[in-house]
Amino acid sequence: RYIFETQDLHFDYPDGTAALQGLSVSIERNKKIALLGANGAGKSTFLLHLIGILKPVKGKIIFNGQELKYDRASLINLRNKVGYVFQDPEIQLFSASVWQEVSFGPMNLGLTNEDVENRVIRALKDTDTTCLKDRPTHFLSYGQKKLISIADILAINPDMIIFDEPTASLDPKYTHRILDLLNDINQRGVSIVMATHDVDKAYEWADTILVMKDGGIIKAGPPEEIFNNE
Ligand code: ADP
Ligand code: ADP
Repeated sequence: RYIFETQDLHFDYPDGTAALQGLSVSIERNKKIALLGANGAGKSTFLLHLIGILKPVKGKIIFNGQELKYDRASLINLRNKVGYVFQDPEIQLFSASVWQEVSFGPMNLGLTNEDVENRVIRALKDTDTTCLKDRPTHFLSYGQKKLISIADILAINPDMIIFDEPTASLDPKYTHRILDLLNDINQRGVSIVMATHDVDKAYEWADTILVMKDGGIIKAGPPEEIFNNE
């Protein structure tokens, strides 16, 4: 029923900063979730827990009904189920050409050449970037890089994709295009988590809003509910 649940997550950075202080939340499958909160509320720290990069000092995470473990095999498995799209595509893209870039993920999954090719073709088609397939990634525009960074993750076929500020630094045209794309992806059964500062966009786009403060979730629910009680 739930794509993920967290129970009483606590996390302290080495300098003693208590970044998560008892975060508990349950999220149903196939939702469009906006994660809101002021700078320093703990959004990034929480998201890094969902992809297994940080390990809670206390509490647990249940993904797809299974408690998250931190051995190598479990983390590799998680990486194929949960995708993460960086705010800045420049730090995500590292291959010479678009085709190489998008094929990297499925190749790592150990798929046959034919399956890899099909994954890449589909991811480029879904992001409407087929015409870029032979281009060097370095010379793409910022918006094109953003789309390719999303194609990268789609090619892995994850159950959930996390987007950190997906429309930051984009013009209105690309912003629209990215939000439409997120809707399309969601309609195919992928759960989406979007961290954002943009309350209006969250209200418009999301079906579930999580508001973080001081390392915990202070509000969770549909937009109408969240913004009525302000
Ligand atoms: P938030 O605080 O809402 O999580 P930030 O904008 O502070 O988001 O960014 C989170 C992380 O991403 C920080 O470590 C920051 O240094 C990094 N970051 C933000 N914008 C850029 C950018 N344009 N290029 C590279 N790194 C960035
Ligand atoms: P947000 O993404 O909402 O801006 P963060 O998760 O980045 O929040 O930060 C939560 C808290 O943890 C803040 O007090 C922040 O200063 C602190 N923090 C984040 N990264 C580190 C780090 N690497 N070392 C120490 N403290 C950190």
